[in-house]
Amino acid sequence: MTAVALKDVTKVFPDGTVAVDNVNFDVSPGEFMVLLGPSGCGKSTLLRMIAGLEGATSGAILLDGEVANEMSPRERGVAMVFQDFALYPHMTVADNIGFPLRLSGVEPAARSEQVAQVASALGIGDVLERKPAQLSGGQRQRVAMGRAIVRRPGLFLMDEPLSNLDSGLRAELRAEISGLVRELGVTCVYVTHDQAEALTMADRVAILRRGVLQDVGTPTQVYGRPATLYVAAFLGSPRMNLLEAEVYVNLDRHVALHLGDQALYLPWNDVRARHVAHFHGERIIVGVRAEALIPVASAGAGDVLQGRVRYLEHHGHETLAFLDIGATAVIVDEMAGQVTPVSTMQQGLRRLVNRFTGRGGGGGSDD
Ligand code: ATP
Repeated sequence: MTAVALKDVTKVFPDGTVAVDNVNFDVSPGEFMVLLGPSGCGKSTLLRMIAGLEGATSGAILLDGEVANEMSPRERGVAMVFQDFALYPHMTVADNIGFPLRLSGVEPAARSEQVAQVASALGIGDVLERKPAQLSGGQRQRVAMGRAIVRRPGLFLMDEPLSNLDSGLRAELRAEISGLVRELGVTCVYVTHDQAEALTMADRVAILRRGVLQDVGTPTQVYGRPATLYVAAFLGSPRMNLLEAEVYVNLDRHVALHLGDQALYLPWNDVRARHVAHFHGERIIVGVRAEALIPVASAGAGDVLQGRVRYLEHHGHETLAFLDIGATAVIVDEMAGQVTPVSTMQQGLRRLVNRFTGRGGGGGSDD
């Protein structure tokens, strides 16, 4: 059973813009799915199609197993929270939250009870008589959430609901929203361009680029084993190191990765050696997270590369070293004092290679 299923969904606007290109994925009941991608990748259009605010050019949108393409937004039983909150300025908080109940003919007494319950769950029970202009950004956001929750919808759709708030409040509300949605057990599709938001809130993340779905998986999967070079370069800060290497298999001993004029040897008992062995004689891209590059004092066996530090970047909690081999490494505190730019250091690659994603060239981020 799926709460939402997208089958070959495409949206072409009348001017020929292909905003969503043959997208397929499912959302399970109670799941928190985040649509992530840079501006213009088609996230909002996809969400609006699920809501019924935009028609699909082709493909099917299924809600609880039923094709919903021809259903009106009301028939779909979804509630949407927008970036600008879209509150009614002349109404009080209580009336804003209770508005959907009024529309469905709920009696005033029952309405105030439900509004009070929701407002208290959101921590805005004491501002029910205020108007939106008398609220902080965070409170307005909670009112918008309250108005969406009060109808107990089967599906929540949220389009960048935190993007108008300052960063401290965003971090606070992202835990609050995901906690609340999980408590209610409601399925949620949440749009953001902010990867920290996506990785911290989501059960699964769907990553879009120019309307095309790149990867779907848990935060750990998409970060650790990205499906495409685009996702590898897009997720994470600093960006994943993507190094070109040639693969040579020595059946007696190891698999060698030639990176420029250096070689890295993976013994056969290393599972990664078997992954790359298929590419014997070919150029591949090796993806290595900066935090997986471990500075070592001296060159050991096979899994060490040498690089000169071009410059250091201090970030308070960590220091990044940019190396002349086209890679960035995270240096632990005690080493940062010892490393000076343009001195030689060796980079142990013991936890190397998150994924070998293809055969050279292409796929770098250009968004
Ligand atoms: P953002 O984060 O900036 O809101 P997004 O990922 O949500 O971006 P969409 O708003 O879905 O992206 O837009 C996807 C593409 O479709 C963009 O190229 C956009 O310019 C285009 N687009 C959106 N609405 C229309 C429209 N009504 N007519 C033509 N093109 C449109």
